Amino acid sequence: MAYDPNNIFARILRGEIPCKKIHEDDHALAFHDINPQAKVHALVIPKGAYVSFDDFSAKASDAELADYTRAVGQVARQLGADQDGYRLLSNCGVNANQDVPHLHIHIFGGRRLGRMIDKPSA
Ligand code: AMP
Repeated sequence: MAYDPNNIFARILRGEIPCKKIHEDDHALAFHDINPQAKVHALVIPKGAYVSFDDFSAKASDAELADYTRAVGQVARQLGADQDGYRLLSNCGVNANQDVPHLHIHIFGGRRLGRMIDKPSA
């Protein structure tokens, strides 16, 4: 998947589209998902132009990697999701139905989240 500089999260980062911000630091931004699937549903994105987790982990600087990793944990704590538990999810590519081609980690919490993934279809 190629990086599209006009993807919706790139536009949020440029301030062209609003978001309900939760956290921001030098290298990461977190905001509430526009279509929440749970009481807690946040998205954490790096500020750099990375399509997916594998892209980010291969190319990001140590400072980006550190800030992004810390941001995910901080947002989980800030939203209280650490109290009863939460799930991190990052869809990468076609098999995972990634919609937005800018790395994002979903943080889900606030309810029991069920099984990890769909059973394979027969
Ligand atoms: P994915 O399928 O993993 O690429 O997830 C993309 C997520 O982005 C979905 O959960 C959408 O609801 C969410 N989303 C799309 N547009 C926005 C937006 N403008 N603000 C916040 N979340 C968004």
